[in-house]
Amino acid sequence: MVKIVYVNDEYVSASDAKISIFDRGLLFGDSVYEVIPVYNGQVFLADRHIARLNSSLTKARIAIPDREWLPLFAELIRQNGSGDMQIYVQVTRGNQGLRKHDIPAVIKPTIFAFTLHMPYPVTENAQRGLHAKIVEDTRWLRCDIKTTAMLANVLLNDDAVSAGFDTALLTRQGYVSEGSASNVFIVSENDEIITPPLNNLCLPGITRQIILELLATLNLPAREALIPVQDLFSAQEIWITSTTKEIYPVTRINSHQVGDGVAGEIWYKLHKHYQQLVKTL
Ligand code: PMP
Repeated sequence: MVKIVYVNDEYVSASDAKISIFDRGLLFGDSVYEVIPVYNGQVFLADRHIARLNSSLTKARIAIPDREWLPLFAELIRQNGSGDMQIYVQVTRGNQGLRKHDIPAVIKPTIFAFTLHMPYPVTENAQRGLHAKIVEDTRWLRCDIKTTAMLANVLLNDDAVSAGFDTALLTRQGYVSEGSASNVFIVSENDEIITPPLNNLCLPGITRQIILELLATLNLPAREALIPVQDLFSAQEIWITSTTKEIYPVTRINSHQVGDGVAGEIWYKLHKHYQQLVKTL
C-alpha cells in the first residue's frame, strides 16, 4: 500500500513529500511533535494530545496553527488503512530560507503528519516484561517540551540497546526522571505506587495521566514523589507508560530481577482496565 502523508496542506505519497533543507526543524531541531494513538480507526485521547501539542508550541514560542486537527487525523487514518496505528504530527518553526539562530518576527510553521504502524502490546508478550538499563540522564533541562531535538534520547536509548537491554531508565543525580521514551511508576516495598512529579525533568505523559486516573478509580491512589535510584532495586513492580507501550512491566533492572521477574499483580489489573478503556471507543 502506498503510504499517504500530510505535508503543508497536501496529502501526497510518502516518496513525494518534501521539506526544505533550510527548515529550522531540520537545522536546529526547532520543532515539536505529538504521537496520538488510534485504535480500530478511532483516535484515542485526541483532546489531551492536542492540548499538549499547544503547550509544547507555546513553550517553544512557535505560533499555534489556526486549524482543526481532527479532520486531518481522520483523513490520514482513512488513507492509510484504518485499524490500529498512531498519528505522528510535527510542527516546526518553519523555513527561513537561510540558517540563522534568531527567531524571525514572521515565519510560517511547517506542518507534517503521517501514520505509524507500531503494534500495541499483546498481553502474552507484555507479561514477560522489559529489561531496562539505568543510565544517567544527559538531556537538557526542558524535558517537559515534546521537542524533536532528541539526539540525547537516541544516544541514551542506544546505551541500553547496544548493551543488550530493551530500554533505558533515566536517572538524574540519584533520582529517576523517566524512560528514554516513557514515564515510570514503581510499586514500592511498602506497597506504595509512586511516579516522579511533573517538572522540567520529564514529559507530562498522557498515558501517565490516564494511569493515575485509573489508579484513583480503582482505589489504588498513586503518590507523585521523587524516586531514589535504590528504590528501583527494592520495588515489587516497575512499569513504564507511553502511547505505544501503553502500560508495560519492567522485570529486570541492570542485572537485578524485579519482584518475581514477571509482570506483577497491579500491572495485570491496570493493563486489563486500559484495554477496556480503548475498547469503549
Ligand atoms: N517521556 C518521554 C521522554 C517520551 O518520549 C514519551 C513518549 N512520547 C513519554 C514520556 C510518554 O508520553 P505519552 O504517554 O504521552 O506517550
